[in-house]
Amino acid sequence: MQASNPTAKKALGQHFLKDRQAIRRIAEAIPKGANIIEIGPGPGAITEALLARAGKLTVIEMDDRFAAHWREAGEKNPQLSVIHGDVMLELEAALAAVRPEWIAGNLPYNLSGPLTAKLAGLDLSGGMVLMYQREVAERIAAGPGSKVYGGLSVLVRHFYNVKRLLVLPPGAFAPPPKVHSAVILLTPHGRTPACSYAGLQQTVRKGFAHRRKTITNNFRGLLSAEQFQDMDIDPGTRPEQLDYDAWARIAGAYVHAADSEGR
Ligand code: SAM
Repeated sequence: MQASNPTAKKALGQHFLKDRQAIRRIAEAIPKGANIIEIGPGPGAITEALLARAGKLTVIEMDDRFAAHWREAGEKNPQLSVIHGDVMLELEAALAAVRPEWIAGNLPYNLSGPLTAKLAGLDLSGGMVLMYQREVAERIAAGPGSKVYGGLSVLVRHFYNVKRLLVLPPGAFAPPPKVHSAVILLTPHGRTPACSYAGLQQTVRKGFAHRRKTITNNFRGLLSAEQFQDMDIDPGTRPEQLDYDAWARIAGAYVHAADSEGR
């Protein structure tokens, strides 16, 4: 049962979803019987719909009021468990304990970037349904050549195909946020990545540091124009023009170069 009439806490990015169709579409993106983690259930708009489908649902919530509410609900429902705390600190232990197939959540806006960078490194067998501010969702879903294509767009493609599921106006939430929101669906592409996720993270951080510079300039002193040519990458290319496969090739060479530097 949902928590009733909660006051929203701005500091925790609380905007509660009330659009029934959106709730249905988020839940229906996940197959029946799945083992799911929901990040930030709040009063439970999505939680109830997920519970109706899940084999097992674990919620991670920082707000004491909601954590207490779901803990009480979990005492009556063996399908539901609660982790009370900050997802940035609790996620790793939760993954080890729960081994989820799916992760879902209407994510707190202030955590979008760092949390997505963590989530994208998880090789889930099911996938993820995640709600963001529309601008962040656009960045995640963008492909090479787009002005908003960046590090996160590359990172999410390490394990996943990316699909825009829906866009929602501020009025779909209470209280309404200032901007539109959007839901992204990540499903495993099933290919074995050619580099490590940690290596890819280091590489996109370095490679997108100066978007207007060429890729060779971004890696100056570490990778040469000849090395880019050997990777079948034009040394004059700008970072936002390179697709995931090119970034994975750069990661292989960059991690090797960075290791040799450190030695
Ligand atoms: N799922 C609800 C909905 O869609 O109506 C609430 C979504 S609200 C945008 C974000 C939720 O994440 C809130 O319940 C908030 O308390 C919780 N939250 C914020 N920061 C958190 C953190 N660091 N760790 C865990 N939960 C957090």
